[in-house]
Amino acid sequence: MHIHSSLSPCGDNDMTPNNIVNMAKLNELDIIAVTDHNTCRNCSAAIKVGEEVGLTVVPGMELTTSEDIHVVCLFPDLESAEKFDKYVYERLMKIPNEADIFGHQYVMNENDEIIDEVDMLLINSCDISIMDVKEVVNSFGGVAIPAHVNRDSYSIIAVLGEIVPECNFDFIEVSRSGKPENYNYPSIQNSDAHYLENISEKGRFIELEKNTARCLIEYLGNGRC
Ligand SMILES: [Zn+2]
Ligand SMILES: [Zn+2]
Repeated sequence: MHIHSSLSPCGDNDMTPNNIVNMAKLNELDIIAVTDHNTCRNCSAAIKVGEEVGLTVVPGMELTTSEDIHVVCLFPDLESAEKFDKYVYERLMKIPNEADIFGHQYVMNENDEIIDEVDMLLINSCDISIMDVKEVVNSFGGVAIPAHVNRDSYSIIAVLGEIVPECNFDFIEVSRSGKPENYNYPSIQNSDAHYLENISEKGRFIELEKNTARCLIEYLGNGRC
């Protein structure tokens, strides 16, 4: 539920829509989410490739809040994700990307052809607070999950010292590479892959009535589908 593509400056240029989807298929995954930093613009291509080979691709984004906290945002359909993408881009700190330092930010089509390169650096923070993020993402039909809470950087615990109860999160994301602690929240665990070899094999399971993005969002929002 947390994979970066070539659109994230830190994502490898080999993280093309076809490579991501086919690596996930090789690893026998049933469902993945593409979650670039502060953008959903490679979700369309990944969803199309997924449909061709029978893999569910959930449109998503890893949002950076105004406090520099990463939050995985997942959506039931591309339309909702793309509306949220526009909302976030208007609130993104506008600093030009220096591709030599941070990496390229390629938007690709379903044939892995580069159709655009985003010129503003996508890893900066947005003018959306962690205190409001759940409500904002819900208003676009999606769910917000604080990312890698047990890591020392860009996590809610690293920045605020705790998973602030007032944020009302339903799920949290726990990183395999972080401190192994118990939190009083239901959790998901993701690869946060930036390179093809980071895409994991089947690990944890969620029982869904149907293998669709909408069903997953319902489950992560209210625990059932
Ligand atoms: Zn992150
Ligand atoms: Zn990430």
